[in-house]
Amino acid sequence: MPAVLWFRRDLRLRDNPALVAAANGDGNLVPLFVIDPRLWSTSGHVRREWLRRSLHSLNQQLEGRLWVAAGDPAVVLPEVTRIAGATSVHLSRDFGAYGQTRDTLVTTALRADGVEVINTGSPYAVEPGMVRTGGGTRYRVYTPYYRQWVQYAFVAPAPTASANWIDPPASHRLDAHRELAEQQSDVQLPDVGEEAAWRRWDRFKANALTEYDTARNRPDIDGTSSLSAHLRWGEIHPRSLLADLTAYLNDPATAAGATTFAKEIAWREFYADVWDANPTSTHHSLDPRFDQALALDAGSAADQKFMAWQNGLTGFPFVDAGMRQLRATGWMHNRVRMVTASFLVKGLHLPWQRGAAHFMEWLRDGDAASNQQGWQWVAGCGTDAAPFHRIFNPVKQGLTFDPSGDYVRRWVPELAQIGGGAAHEPWRVRGTLAEPADLTYPEPIIDHAAERQEALRRFAVLPPRNQ
Ligand SMILES: Cc1cc2nc3c(=O)[nH]c(=O)nc-3n(C[C@H](O)[C@H](O)[C@H](O)COP(=O)(O)OP(=O)(O)OC[C@H]3O[C@@H](n4cnc5c(N)ncnc54)[C@H](O)[C@@H]3O)c2cc1C
Repeated sequence: MPAVLWFRRDLRLRDNPALVAAANGDGNLVPLFVIDPRLWSTSGHVRREWLRRSLHSLNQQLEGRLWVAAGDPAVVLPEVTRIAGATSVHLSRDFGAYGQTRDTLVTTALRADGVEVINTGSPYAVEPGMVRTGGGTRYRVYTPYYRQWVQYAFVAPAPTASANWIDPPASHRLDAHRELAEQQSDVQLPDVGEEAAWRRWDRFKANALTEYDTARNRPDIDGTSSLSAHLRWGEIHPRSLLADLTAYLNDPATAAGATTFAKEIAWREFYADVWDANPTSTHHSLDPRFDQALALDAGSAADQKFMAWQNGLTGFPFVDAGMRQLRATGWMHNRVRMVTASFLVKGLHLPWQRGAAHFMEWLRDGDAASNQQGWQWVAGCGTDAAPFHRIFNPVKQGLTFDPSGDYVRRWVPELAQIGGGAAHEPWRVRGTLAEPADLTYPEPIIDHAAERQEALRRFAVLPPRNQ
């Protein structure tokens, strides 16, 4: 009897334990993706476009045999299993709050039809909940979490599975779905899909892994893997990356870069664990004082500043370069994510939730666990967060991590005529002979040093944490 393999955040054929489990029967499989209106309508346009392209890519790998259905999964899955005569549905586990509720409803509906639901694997090398303190609780601090995580994380990838993919009826072919024909966003995306993810990984290993330890902080160079969106959609699994890293960890020339890379993968898994243990942290600060008592700005002046931030028009080149890179490509370098987020929360005194929502709208790797926890880390209200008084100075950060100014000139063309690191401080050339004739770049919208003091003042009057 055929089985359904329900693809969600695992859009790949390699190292896919759910596929291996599904193919274990007679090998006749229905590869299904469900366009869930609830997720489709709330995903940012950039993620929708990535997903659209990824599904086209997967469909190509399956020689046009991907089944696509639109609607509530609790209705769609029973329909598809009936059409295909399937007796089981295979999937890999989703740890999001909505995903878990959805999967419970789908399982109940399928069981009523006598269809078995089998969970195998997850989007993580170490599933949320697996790493625990000696007392059985979840970790709230990264370093002890990492020490445990690293003992479980390096395991062999799943073996290759061969399947007989069943042809979809015309109504369930990918090209029967208008949403997947129409481009959803015009941001510049790189190649999408499983093959593209492996090419990107191979290129990173060949060109950047050795220097990753230091170069990963430099937005002006291609020093990071750019795998985040591929990981977000499961086009490549972190277990595959970690297994591949072993050789680099054992080579003294590459050990530092490889260790740091594994630690970054662990951050992703730590945040998934924290999110799983604290599902309300999607919207609420883990330190409740921040939502209850921290004075924040609102009203039209605050909205104006928020818009300047969104559009990359704050007058701070490093911030504006990041915000424009995000709009142009759906991606922003990690260092610049930290600086732009700090600017919003501690320079403009706006709630981290506003910034996080904007990031989720535009990021191609937008992931509720990493994004919300990343914002809470910067804001100082998350688990293992940066202390509140760590307030990134956008000019110093720019001069340190983009010393030649190449990154800001690339994304802020108004500064193209200001050479070297001076591009980080265009106000210094105003009124001098070095000022370009047509400098249209805005003046800074805030006095950063003064707003830093203001942020510290507002924080100082919060009640102690345990009250
Ligand atoms: C405010 C803020 C919001 C963020 N939002 C997201 C998000 O929505 N989705 C997302 O995937 N990452 C997010 N990050 C983490 C990080 O910025 C990106 O994962 C990274 O920039 C992606 O680029 P890369 O693939 O080249 O990373 P690399 O440096 O090559 O790292 C390899 C992988 O490790 C993981 N990783 C690296 N750094 C982090 C981190 N700090 N937290 C969690 N995982 C990490 C990612 O999966 C990444 O692809 C956010 C960080 C901040 C400060």
